[in-house]
Amino acid sequence: MFIELIDLLRCTRPHEDSWLVAAFYEMRERHVLEGLLSCPVCNARYPIAQGVAWFDVTPGTASSAARARADDGVKAAAYLNLVEPGIVLLEGGWAGAADLLAGLGNTVIAFNSLDIAATTRVSRVRCDGIVPLARECLDGAALDAAEPAMVESGARALKSGARMVAPAEAALPAGLVELARDDSYWVAAREGGSASAPVQIARR
Ligand SMILES: [Zn+2]
Repeated sequence: MFIELIDLLRCTRPHEDSWLVAAFYEMRERHVLEGLLSCPVCNARYPIAQGVAWFDVTPGTASSAARARADDGVKAAAYLNLVEPGIVLLEGGWAGAADLLAGLGNTVIAFNSLDIAATTRVSRVRCDGIVPLARECLDGAALDAAEPAMVESGARALKSGARMVAPAEAALPAGLVELARDDSYWVAAREGGSASAPVQIARR
């Protein structure tokens, strides 16, 4: 868990926005290997173990099977239109794009995909219910999960103008404008950013 990302993590409980208080037990350079995050509002606690931040799941608990494939990495980069390096969330199978996007200078949060190795630019977070991140901190997000709470919390974490890729069956959250869709996914942008041209997902 990259230490600079810890400021972006948020409690999963529905209450006022707050940073989490962090205690670090073991560090490697600027990465937290073992630690504890505590919510100053409700006292919920979230461990960092083996470099992974665990929200409401027992450390070591794998997530359900991912759908996107590792070779979707190039697609993820194209869909998200990452013109300049930023902070990108890759959930489930999309995390197969982690190395590619990190190699382009992005800071990557590999979300609910423990198969991905942590590197200097890739941190791992695990949470089943929502995306436990602050509002407007992400430059892009690619989700395998279609659950409304997950997609809506991911959308809230996008900066204005930032893009999200999500499964076609997921409802488009408020505040996102659909740019394109095919049978598998839609691509949408958070309102408020500068206008960007639609992307074409697949040739018909
Ligand atoms: Zn809390």
